[in-house]
Amino acid sequence: MNDPGRVVILGAGPTGLGAAFRLRELGHDSWRVVERDDRPGGLARSYLDDAGFTWDCGGHVQFSHYAYYDGLCDRAVGDAWVSHERESWIWIAGRFVPYPFQNNLHRLDPADRDRAFAGLERAAASRRGRAANFGEWIVATFGKELAAIFFFPYNRKVWGYPLERLGVSWMGERVAVPDLERVRRTIATGRDDVSWGPNNMFRFPLDGGTGAIWKGVAAVLPAEQVLFGAEVVAVRLEERVVELRDGRRMPFDTLVSSLPLDTLCALSSGLPEPVHRAARALVHSAVHVLGVGLRGPKPETLARKCWTYFPESHSPYYRVTVFSNYSPHNAPPGGEHWSLMAEVSETPEKPVRVESLRGETLAAMKRDGLLGEAEVVSFWHRREEHGYPTPFLGRDETLATVLPGLEARRVYSRGRFGAWKYEVSNQDHSCMQGVELVDRLLGVGPGDEPTLNRPDYVNGGAFAANRR
Ligand SMILES: Cc1cc2nc3c(=O)[nH]c(=O)nc-3n(C[C@H](O)[C@H](O)[C@H](O)COP(=O)(O)OP(=O)(O)OC[C@H]3O[C@@H](n4cnc5c(N)ncnc54)[C@H](O)[C@@H]3O)c2cc1C
Repeated sequence: MNDPGRVVILGAGPTGLGAAFRLRELGHDSWRVVERDDRPGGLARSYLDDAGFTWDCGGHVQFSHYAYYDGLCDRAVGDAWVSHERESWIWIAGRFVPYPFQNNLHRLDPADRDRAFAGLERAAASRRGRAANFGEWIVATFGKELAAIFFFPYNRKVWGYPLERLGVSWMGERVAVPDLERVRRTIATGRDDVSWGPNNMFRFPLDGGTGAIWKGVAAVLPAEQVLFGAEVVAVRLEERVVELRDGRRMPFDTLVSSLPLDTLCALSSGLPEPVHRAARALVHSAVHVLGVGLRGPKPETLARKCWTYFPESHSPYYRVTVFSNYSPHNAPPGGEHWSLMAEVSETPEKPVRVESLRGETLAAMKRDGLLGEAEVVSFWHRREEHGYPTPFLGRDETLATVLPGLEARRVYSRGRFGAWKYEVSNQDHSCMQGVELVDRLLGVGPGDEPTLNRPDYVNGGAFAANRR
């Protein structure tokens, strides 16, 4: 095996913990994880509020593409899982439509349904070359009628940027491209199409929210090698040392970072100016997570729902998860409590007024029929500056400058914001970016880092079929 020397890992989220776990598994003991927060998990942490509700930072679902990742989760959580059939919906024009929207047009009013389907047919008949941006791609794929009804308003709300500023290279399995025959069938039979999805089933930790997974992974690592409350304030590449806020200095030979790539570059001295310049061009959005703890009857319509997308402008949120459906232990015991968790995006072009967010959220939930007769007994709010790594136009060229610029100095940036690739930014992808990087550094296996370098392949059918 190759020897990467002293490895310092920045961040104890899924990426950093995946890297540390793999180093230990392969017997390379010279590593430390440095984490600013007091607990592991990063964006996949969970929180217990004063009223006894557990919250994730947004609805976290396990979409695993990897047997290795499943094994790690099993090891972390044991048998204490709850399994669910995925039920996702869109709330539009006062009704629920099953996801994916384009396959369930029969739920719309007949005039909208016929208009939307005719647009889909026209789009399929006139498909041309590659779209120049995401907005164009939507129209070319779904037609301008469906774009206007759902795809434009929803995507503007979730991304917070004009869709002409987003690229198209990031889309793989995330968006189901319409199968006209299937749509025709649902219109003819009036039967919902709810079968789409890479994993129809998902599992969730019974206790402690999604964060329980990462607590469990951290627990199998030697405690003295994972430093919490340790904020990195500078990376001195000339000296090969990381400086912490408390003044400690940590020398390294190899640096693995899961910090947001723009932050890492801003903290680093000794990088060429073009790398700094490119890193400053990275685009992201922030996310507000709003947890609403409730007591009293849950509306019957929410009995089995996992999450619902909200394209319309009267609600601030783009998605609401019925979080107590994921585990009964996400709400206080006794059976009368339940919970909703809403997500709101924020960008410079879509500012959020924090003072009015609570009032707007509760009013919209009332109007959308989500609260029923239940009483709000808790309200939890968390804002994450780095919420979504925006797949902006020019992203791949930007990354092609920044990542090799760092690697030339043996600095490897991986994970949701470390690699800035939305299409491989879930927990499984992030964790495996850490694992696959270690394989490369130690010279184990092909060392080609498929998750980082070939997102379409790891997200695609052939990879899934080979999963053992
Ligand atoms: C709203 C939302 C919904 C999501 N839904 C899902 C989902 O359904 N399924 C799914 O699998 N994934 C989901 N994710 C993604 C999931 O949270 C990420 O995949 C995962 O957390 C990324 O892991 P990471 O280690 O790359 O980064 P992070 O989790 O961001 O970890 C980075 C770590 O670095 C630390 N750090 C930052 N700065 C410093 C510093 N200066 N010094 C020291 N430490 C520092 C941070 O505290 C953090 O712990 C969602 C994310 C969001 C925001």
